[in-house]
Amino acid sequence: MTLQDILIRRMRRDGALSVADFMGTALFHPEQGYYARRMPIGRAGDFTTAPEVHQMFGEMIAAWLVDYWYRSGRPEPFLLVELGPGRGTLMQDILRTAAGLSPSFTRAAKVWFVETSSILRREQAGAVPAASLTDDLAAVPAAFALVVANEFFDALPIHQYVKTGRHWRERTVTWDGSSARFIFALAPHPSPATPHLPDLAREGDIVEISPAAQAVVADLAGRAVADGGASLIIDYARDPREPCGTLQAVQSHRRVDPLSEPGTADLSARVDFQELANTARAAGASVHGPRAQGAFLETVGIRERGHRLAAMQPATRDGIESALRRLTRPEGMGSQFQAMSIACPSGPDPAGFA
Ligand code: SAH
Repeated sequence: MTLQDILIRRMRRDGALSVADFMGTALFHPEQGYYARRMPIGRAGDFTTAPEVHQMFGEMIAAWLVDYWYRSGRPEPFLLVELGPGRGTLMQDILRTAAGLSPSFTRAAKVWFVETSSILRREQAGAVPAASLTDDLAAVPAAFALVVANEFFDALPIHQYVKTGRHWRERTVTWDGSSARFIFALAPHPSPATPHLPDLAREGDIVEISPAAQAVVADLAGRAVADGGASLIIDYARDPREPCGTLQAVQSHRRVDPLSEPGTADLSARVDFQELANTARAAGASVHGPRAQGAFLETVGIRERGHRLAAMQPATRDGIESALRRLTRPEGMGSQFQAMSIACPSGPDPAGFA
């Protein structure tokens, strides 16, 4: 049975699905979901992420982590956790760089990968054999933890609500038999979430809410408060001034219709950093940022690093310049991507946000 058949069967049984349910099934169905079947990342995959653009990205994250660990009093051992590590490239770059900066950091770090995709899990075990793997953050033990999540939150399912008249109604996905395709629809009744949605909205505005993202952030914040440490979240950010739906699908580096051929394209939604920041503060953690990825990387020193690398190997200069532009300039990933840290309120201020 294809994923399309599975979804149609569920819709016949239960009615239209929420956008979150559609997205979650398309991405994570254990046999037919996108992450169970495809190797998403890289030139031959569907999209390229910052660690795959150039090693300088991971080098800056490593510097950020080592700095925070030093200023926290160098706890030993500690957990170095990555959520959704993809091919393991970022953690490889982090560990290599950290070994040069501070061998005691690398010795003290117990690496944990949180990953649901079995295909990617295999790649990650090859890239970082010492890492412990789990599909659930709750299985990671309680201890001082430094957590990295790059392009992880945009893969978590979102609910969409549409302003109609005085109410918000949940946006759904249903099967249209006459055109033989999935289409968007609206729940017949106003959403019980209405009181929690913004008052100032125009007809047709769409807000997106991710209980899955809130749950992860609440866990990260609780850990930082109880055991110390900090998380660094970098992701494609939602623009709060644009109240429109941001669900998108990408296949072979091109945008496609998010409802056609579920399971064959990567589905993602821009991350609402305010929603994450509010959740983290409510759990007692301190929040730093969000700040544009370009400004964050430049504050941590990516430009100096690029110039040093280019001076050591002049033949790589053009590649380094182009990677710097892509990672830091607004026309690349520099401002659409944002960085934010969730930290222990009695710990040091993480670098890169002042
Ligand atoms: N961080 C990597 C990969 C980003 S792609 C990079 O920057 O290259 C998103 C990653 O998150 C994939 O590894 C995907 O399998 C994983 N993922 C998505 N949802 C997840 C979930 N709920 N739990 C654990 N991993 C998840």
